[in-house]
Amino acid sequence: YEDRDGWIWLDGTLVPWREAQLHVLSHSMHYGGAAFEGQRAYDGVIFKLDEHTRRLKQSAELLGYTIPWTDEEINAACNQVVAANGLSDAYVRPIAWRGAEKLAVSAPQAKVHLAVGAWTWGAYFGEEALRKGAKVDISDYRRPAPFTAPVHSKSSGLYMICTIAKNRAEAKGCSEAMMLDWRGQVAEATSANIFFVRDGELFTPTPDCFLDGITRRTVIGLAEQRGLTVNERAIWPEELESFQQCFLTGSAAEVTPVAEIGSWRFEVGDLTRQLARDYQSLVRSGSRAELSNAA
Ligand code: PMP
Repeated sequence: YEDRDGWIWLDGTLVPWREAQLHVLSHSMHYGGAAFEGQRAYDGVIFKLDEHTRRLKQSAELLGYTIPWTDEEINAACNQVVAANGLSDAYVRPIAWRGAEKLAVSAPQAKVHLAVGAWTWGAYFGEEALRKGAKVDISDYRRPAPFTAPVHSKSSGLYMICTIAKNRAEAKGCSEAMMLDWRGQVAEATSANIFFVRDGELFTPTPDCFLDGITRRTVIGLAEQRGLTVNERAIWPEELESFQQCFLTGSAAEVTPVAEIGSWRFEVGDLTRQLARDYQSLVRSGSRAELSNAA
């Protein structure tokens, strides 16, 4: 990703892509304290930008630091990066971190930096997964308990387990890993939330120790608009065999059907397909509204 043309917003200015470097002694690289976001632009309009920016700032606060930019400034930076790179459909990655001004576990002197990058990113699990459903492994690692880590922050340290779980899944020919929580209940995937369908109703774990995803909440809203019952509650792995469909939600993953988790099989059913279509039409409605306002 580092060797290409383009622009990255870094601490207030757009810098050429290759020059967006940081020092090896940056605090967050050593101690895992970067806070980041991931959002998509559709037809040049970033979906739910305000919510992503709010979560970015909250993630940093949960890690004990404040991002020295207002929500409006961060929103403007994200939009500027999409435009400067000539992108229309894009993935946008803002990231905040403690710098190299001082290196020690506690380093209040370390400056808080902020950068935003954006690039084209197609179907997160590939086009085939959208049609046939993703193959999902079950991770050996579990999501940490809420009394062991700031589990509601989207922060780099919490992704160490995700990377290991996903790499192991890929080595087994899967494209994603499902993680249980510390109690053994179904939690989430390494980059997405999880839903199940049984007899026309939706089931999804209560997000009490993992990210309550923006896409997750959006999809719950879409399902309710269709009059569907959404059961948000604890889900134990033993219940998986009773579900007919399964899908993942995330800003990058959008709505991706799941065909298998370990030895459990799911059909890519009408309800999943309908919600995936509803989601696609909603994410593009912002740009349609802008077009009709302009007309
Ligand atoms: N869980 C994890 C671990 C994630 O990385 C993501 C993606 N940010 C999600 C859930 C889904 O969150 P969102 O819908 O806000 O992108």
